Amino acid sequence: MSLLPGGGTGFVGRALTQLLRSRGHQVTHVSRRGGKDRISWEELSRSGLPQCDAVVNLAGENVLNPFRRWSDAFCREVISSRVETTKALAKAIAAAEQPPQAWVLVTGVGYYRPSPTAEYTEDSPGGDFDFFSRLVSSWEAAALIPGSPARGVVVRSGVVLGRHGGAISQMLLPFRLGLGGPIGSGLQPFPWIHIQDLSGIVCHALEKESVQGILNGVAPSSPGTSNGSFARELGAALGRPALVPVPAWAVRAVFGPERAVMLLQGQRVLPKRTLETGYHFIFPELPAALKDIVA
Ligand code: NDP
Repeated sequence: MSLLPGGGTGFVGRALTQLLRSRGHQVTHVSRRGGKDRISWEELSRSGLPQCDAVVNLAGENVLNPFRRWSDAFCREVISSRVETTKALAKAIAAAEQPPQAWVLVTGVGYYRPSPTAEYTEDSPGGDFDFFSRLVSSWEAAALIPGSPARGVVVRSGVVLGRHGGAISQMLLPFRLGLGGPIGSGLQPFPWIHIQDLSGIVCHALEKESVQGILNGVAPSSPGTSNGSFARELGAALGRPALVPVPAWAVRAVFGPERAVMLLQGQRVLPKRTLETGYHFIFPELPAALKDIVA
């Protein structure tokens, strides 16, 4: 297949591209920067969709960039880098003479209301109570193409764990120094997925013609993981203690109260439809996932 991922140059995109190429697919990225096997967003809107079998969108400004203040301008960038890129791809798909067979968007489990007890599947309600849930709603709405023959799939991802980026890259140094620990109370759920599984689910959605609609991108055991148990397991994988908590006030001070919700609260999410579609997780359990990442 020939595949066109937007934002495919990032943390998840690099792993996905490697997997897709290893399976014999051709990959061209849509990017803000030019280069080999890339087209720009301007080129996409000027010339339309290049001939391809499937389109993916992974573009998005890093929400948890600690160097960016949670200002109105940054919020607008967080929204537009997701919603406008998704709209641009959806518009190009709708206008294509030969539409692709599949159109896959990766969003987030922030769609579901944080709760220490509630468990959510793909059929659970959400999307209308805070900044992140509304962001996911408008992001997913931007992907809708009424009447399109392209099979639409949305993967709502948890925190992506991988060796070369994402949340763990910022945690490794303090944990290696024995200064890691739970965030806030540590009781909040920690929805997670290994990067190989998120790439695997996207690949599964692209290749399997019966897959359509929402899939939760979280490990099957993730509803049983709290932030505190995650910290303990990461410490164990590194052979270091993980007893130094990060106080909630410090997280709010660095990230701002609205954004700190992502770290201080969490959702218990089940990949019910993902499993029903026949996806087999490579890393269903946290200890093996972390061992693979920090080894
Ligand atoms: P990255 O932070 O690595 O960014 C992905 C790509 O988005 C970048 O390589 C870049 O591509 C493009 N991008 C970044 N900022 C902007 C911007 N301001 N405008 C347009 N494009 C931009 O993301 P990940 O790979 O970690 O995540 C991929 C997707 O999955 C994102 O949409 C993210 O929100 C979502 N997600 C990620 C999770 C995680 O834990 N990592 C959890 C849940 C959801 P280029 O430079 O080529 O233009």
